Amino acid sequence: MTNDHTSLTETTGAATTAESRADVAIIGGGAAGLSAAVALSRSLRSVVVIDAGEPRNAPSPGVHNLLGREGISPRDLIAQGRAEAEGYGTRMLSDSVTHARRDGGDVVLELAGGGELRARRILLATGLHDELPDVPGVADLWGTRVLHCPYCHGWEVRGQRIGVLGTTSMAVHQVMLFRQLSEHITLFTHTMPELSDDDWDTLAALGVEVVSGRVAELRAKGGEIDAVVLEGGHEFAIDALTVAPRFVANSDIYEQLGGTLSENPMGSFVETDFAGKTDLDGVWAAGNVSELGAVVAAAAAQGTMAGGAINGDLVMAEARAAVAARAA
Ligand SMILES: Cc1cc2nc3c(=O)[nH]c(=O)nc-3n(C[C@H](O)[C@H](O)[C@H](O)COP(=O)(O)OP(=O)(O)OC[C@H]3O[C@@H](n4cnc5c(N)ncnc54)[C@H](O)[C@@H]3O)c2cc1C
Repeated sequence: MTNDHTSLTETTGAATTAESRADVAIIGGGAAGLSAAVALSRSLRSVVVIDAGEPRNAPSPGVHNLLGREGISPRDLIAQGRAEAEGYGTRMLSDSVTHARRDGGDVVLELAGGGELRARRILLATGLHDELPDVPGVADLWGTRVLHCPYCHGWEVRGQRIGVLGTTSMAVHQVMLFRQLSEHITLFTHTMPELSDDDWDTLAALGVEVVSGRVAELRAKGGEIDAVVLEGGHEFAIDALTVAPRFVANSDIYEQLGGTLSENPMGSFVETDFAGKTDLDGVWAAGNVSELGAVVAAAAAQGTMAGGAINGDLVMAEARAAVAARAA
């Protein structure tokens, strides 16, 4: 039972002593990291969360499909989660982990703000970054008028004129999901593979307009979409554009410790077992870094699971050590 934190430097951004050592260091304080912190701190573990403060959904005005906190702003949700974790003794550092290495059984983390932290176990809860299609204007409206997830913000654009930017063969599936929310769907084929006869039949039956050719620009006006502009100059008026980003796990630390990323059609991720354990000793992962499709509630659930699993792992290690000490 070691959550008194006496060995941790406690000032935000200044964990400077080489002796600083936690039972668990959690890298990333989003839904996954903070949920794990609560589970671990409630088990009387010394926990430090190092968080760079850039949750993936920060551009979005509200978090949806989150029972009990429907529509809360992403920043408010994190502030609430931080307060809850701190209430049980978690130490929060507003900083970035820049490098990780092993030292004996510990992992040593270097911080951008200076100094190092040492932990018996680490949890990667660093999330992912969305690689957006390289179309001028798309990044500017990301999270407000440029969307990817019908469950996160589909309701907010229901009934509106929704464009789907085709970049992969999944575009037709995305069309169908958003067609559930609006009768006014336009598929811009852009760089997607050629449509099959079945695709054409489906799109015609659903009343989806198909616009062939590459999109040159998404033109904005006052925070709204003014027009989708094709190469050649044709313009189309829409209210929202859906895109399919490539999801890339924020995995530098995992790779520095010797891990290798896995790939699936959505992007790259850190592979884990059901409770978040990676193939590296003492290293767990939860949330979008390991599950590219996890929404906030799912990321939080994974964090809670991983927190319990890490505590269980420490409990077993301590019991083995106690038995060995007694025998000696
Ligand atoms: C535009 C948009 C809108 C969305 N809307 C919704 C929605 O309405 N409902 C919903 O359920 N889901 C939504 N999502 C999905 C949601 O963002 C994710 O499910 C959630 O953020 C995953 O939580 P996480 O803890 O895994 O990662 P994150 O929330 O991304 O948190 C990761 C944290 O780790 C930090 N970090 C990364 N690297 C380091 C490092 N080296 N050192 C220190 N800190 C680091 C980051 O700064 C960040 O604070 C949306 C996603 C996007 C892109």
